[in-house]
Amino acid sequence: MSPKNILNADLHCHSVISDGTLTPEALAERAKANGVELWALTDHDETGGVERAAAAARAQGLHYLTGAEISVTFAGETVHIVGLGFDAGNTALKEGLHSTRGGREQRAREMAEGLARVGIHGAFEGALKFVGNPELISRTHFARFLVESGVCSETHEVFRKYLTEGKPGYVPHRWATLRDAVTWITEAHGVAVIAHPGRYKFTPNEEYALFTEFKAHGGRAVEVVTGSHTAQEFVKYAETAKEFGLAASRGSDFHSPDESRIDLGALPFLPGELTPVWDLLADRIQ
Ligand code: AMP
Ligand code: MN
Ligand code: MN
Ligand code: MN
Repeated sequence: MSPKNILNADLHCHSVISDGTLTPEALAERAKANGVELWALTDHDETGGVERAAAAARAQGLHYLTGAEISVTFAGETVHIVGLGFDAGNTALKEGLHSTRGGREQRAREMAEGLARVGIHGAFEGALKFVGNPELISRTHFARFLVESGVCSETHEVFRKYLTEGKPGYVPHRWATLRDAVTWITEAHGVAVIAHPGRYKFTPNEEYALFTEFKAHGGRAVEVVTGSHTAQEFVKYAETAKEFGLAASRGSDFHSPDESRIDLGALPFLPGELTPVWDLLADRIQ
């Protein structure tokens, strides 16, 4: 094990500014209590929490990187690209994220119409009660409403029965392009990371195309150790990182104490033979 890989870095989590249930301050406190040394808040399509997160990290004595998780449409699927260590004030990045957030409200209204057709009424208003940022209504907020109203017992069940492709509350959506998301991040002096590749339902050819195009656009890292991967996927994507010459990232994808299986900082270390993404970001750590 290379000593530089033995770092409790958690570079993927969500606050109330997207679909998490904790504030940036509460996340920083929890990260510190769990032994995290290097932390990034990566809200969906949004950098509105970056300044609060940076201040909270400073107050807790945590090393910190700016972050965001950008929604992308690639080969008909939604793919998430995490950006780390970028200049949060970069205009093209801010405008790109703003345009990516656009359309979420209309999509949410259509989701509510789909749910109403199967007898679940008032879902738009119900989901809104859980929303911390009016520009960021997400499927997670609908899931919380359906649990609260007793339709399902937990959020994973809501996704399985109502919010995934072919189900009544699912509305297809066009997000950013892979090229745009990677370019926004890299031109703002950040590093682009493919989030949780094990979650996408790609054929091997499509997955190869994702990694190849991501690299061609300037992407430099992939999440290997994430709360979304099984132990076998840690091994599989460690191999993929080496095959494509990508650095490796580590992050829980923590959303909520009540919903997330993996807590902040509670993951195995990165495999020793990989280049950690923080090696590429040494001068961006605050
Ligand atoms: P959206 O950006 O509105 O499409 O919502 C995507 C979010 O839904 C993800 O970031 C996860 O937080 C959550 N999500 C997706 N699939 C599931 C699932 N099967 N169980 C629980 N949460 C999920
Ligand atoms: Mn989420
Ligand atoms: Mn994601
Ligand atoms: Mn995430």
